[in-house]
Amino acid sequence: MDINADIGSIKNVGEKRKELLNKVGIYTIRDLLEYIPRDYIDRSQITPLNQIEAGEIYMVKAKIKGDFQIFLKGKLKIVKTVISDGSGTAAVIWFNQPYLKNNLDKNREYLFMGSVSKVNGRLTLTAPELEPVREEQSLNAGRIVPKYHLTKNLNQKLLRRLIYETIGEAEPLIEDFIPEYIMREYGLCGRVCALKNIHFPESEEAFFASRRRLVFEELLMLQLKLLTLKGEIKKKESGIRFSFFETEPIVERLPFKLTAGQEEVLEEITADMAGDCPMNRLVQGDVGSGKTAVAEICAYIAYTNGAQTAVMAPTDVLATQHYNTFSALFSKLGIEAVLLKGALKAREKREIKEKIAEGKAHIVIGTHALIQEGVKFKELGLVITDEQHRFGVNQRRLLNSKGENPHTLIMSATPIPRTLGLILYGDLDISTIKTMPSGRRVINTSYVNSSYHERIFRFILNQVKEGRQTYIVCPMIEENGKAELKSVKAFLKELEGTCLRETRRAFVHGKMKPKEKQEVMDKFAAGEIDVLVATTVIEVGINVPNASIMLIENADRFGLSQLHQLRGRVGRGAFQSYCILVSDTKGEEAKKRLRVMVKNFDGFDLSEKDLTLRGPGDFFGVRQHGLPELKIANLYKDMDILKEVQALSARLWEDDRFLEKEENLSLKRRIEEVYGRNGNYGESL
Ligand code: ADP
Ligand code: MG
Repeated sequence: MDINADIGSIKNVGEKRKELLNKVGIYTIRDLLEYIPRDYIDRSQITPLNQIEAGEIYMVKAKIKGDFQIFLKGKLKIVKTVISDGSGTAAVIWFNQPYLKNNLDKNREYLFMGSVSKVNGRLTLTAPELEPVREEQSLNAGRIVPKYHLTKNLNQKLLRRLIYETIGEAEPLIEDFIPEYIMREYGLCGRVCALKNIHFPESEEAFFASRRRLVFEELLMLQLKLLTLKGEIKKKESGIRFSFFETEPIVERLPFKLTAGQEEVLEEITADMAGDCPMNRLVQGDVGSGKTAVAEICAYIAYTNGAQTAVMAPTDVLATQHYNTFSALFSKLGIEAVLLKGALKAREKREIKEKIAEGKAHIVIGTHALIQEGVKFKELGLVITDEQHRFGVNQRRLLNSKGENPHTLIMSATPIPRTLGLILYGDLDISTIKTMPSGRRVINTSYVNSSYHERIFRFILNQVKEGRQTYIVCPMIEENGKAELKSVKAFLKELEGTCLRETRRAFVHGKMKPKEKQEVMDKFAAGEIDVLVATTVIEVGINVPNASIMLIENADRFGLSQLHQLRGRVGRGAFQSYCILVSDTKGEEAKKRLRVMVKNFDGFDLSEKDLTLRGPGDFFGVRQHGLPELKIANLYKDMDILKEVQALSARLWEDDRFLEKEENLSLKRRIEEVYGRNGNYGESL
């Protein structure tokens, strides 16, 4: 028997079962053993019948005492009988299972598991699961029982039995690939014990110990793999090594003095660019910290070193905005920026592509279609990706494969706690812009309910009269029957009945054609629209310094980080700006989050609070980052283990980077098995 053998090769699994198991992702014996329960039911306690009460769930051990009665209630066929355990009796009913009458043996003891209620004045177990009492310990009762994710025709009992029997038989094959010295130091239990107890915990302690072990190994392998990847990228020889770092001409043309934070990050970047291997760096900076200027300076450095720069943004609108900013700055220096976007005519596109291929276009701006469209560069030296959280690891890799190992700079406004950064961006170095441009005022943030609408509209009108502009964000595009959720279209209509009818209004949302969206955004940027009603399409990166109000409807629908992003669309100019969160939510958690927004203006802080209040699910899907789905670990809940793992990984990285020491070989082998041998992160993860 081989642990990686096909699941069809074990006893009791024929073609049909094999197909079912494949459906839930079980292909090998190992997959089966590592099929972690989604939940557990504690069936270790048996309650005497004289102690049961209505409204609770129990397990009782009893014999059938009465006769079976079968009667109809509407369409339901009800089977009823009485059970007794010596301490007392209770009624039992099942629905639509008349065959039970013949299947149950009056001389045997059974375990009955189910909820108890009072029916016609009598304590009654309703549709309990049942299990004959056996000599040997049963898998489905009398213990803590696992519950698995199922698919049609695959039931809990079958899975439990398969897993139980297979663990027993496969035990000698289960390799403990975590080196002994690590197990000892971190108090980890062995793998056999861990797998047995994750499925069929002998006790609560045994369960926690086994879970700890499995989470630890999963995170350790992932973290080590990511470190190796980073090492491999570093090992690659640099195609282009930059040697000129004269930035005066460009810095002096910026309409402001760089902040200390921007300068610090630029130093880290130039050190990378001057080094032997390609840069692979993430720049985190809160909304409005001035990441674009950093990008511009980097593009200038690439230019002076004879290399082209690609700038990628997640949306056409954002790409266009970057194009405008970049070309305004660079055109006077004779440096040509081009915009490659979806909406271009075929001929225009061809011309631009030619320019890029000939090296006449120095800075190429576009969406991530840039990587898919077979654009050929003459000398691609730097790739800048804006608003990274929308790009996955794989897209990042694809892009890197375009040039001769170009330098890569990734910019993100979604600050994430450092521990998670090491996992989510494990293959990157990280810089953080720590200061904001001076003279920024705190965005006056308030949280009110919808009875304030009229006052808010009057306030907006006053601001518009002073020349300012307003964003209004709604969670929906169109009404969809959920009266409590505001939609962009309905809200714009509603405004006609308010004092804002005097203003120039428009809407924008993600389902509009790129060209229409662009037209609206252009008009708004040009000050031809006063009030823009939008979905969260405007969340990312939009820069209209004249906008001073961000009104968010149904604010409880959004996460803190998202609200912070939205709020970051205002306060980008010299004007005092306002963020108004409207919500009628009754939920305590939601209210708490909104109150946090009123007091807190730091993106890092907020993202950390977001994690605590909502958990990571809403905020960043691991998938979204191109990381593998974790089988058991939860990046947020298992933060403590993650920290231990990171400390250990860092140490291993120093001592035995390639895990070549005798004691680490088993770990290395297992990582290669799981993630592929040659740093093939994209495909195998
Ligand atoms: P983000 O980091 O969110 O991408 P942007 O690069 O769009 O921020 O910059 C936000 C605003 O701050 C822009 O209007 C930009 O011109 C301005 N800005 C950037 N750097 C500075 C600075 N050092 N001093 C003053 N204003 C700055
Ligand atoms: Mg930006």
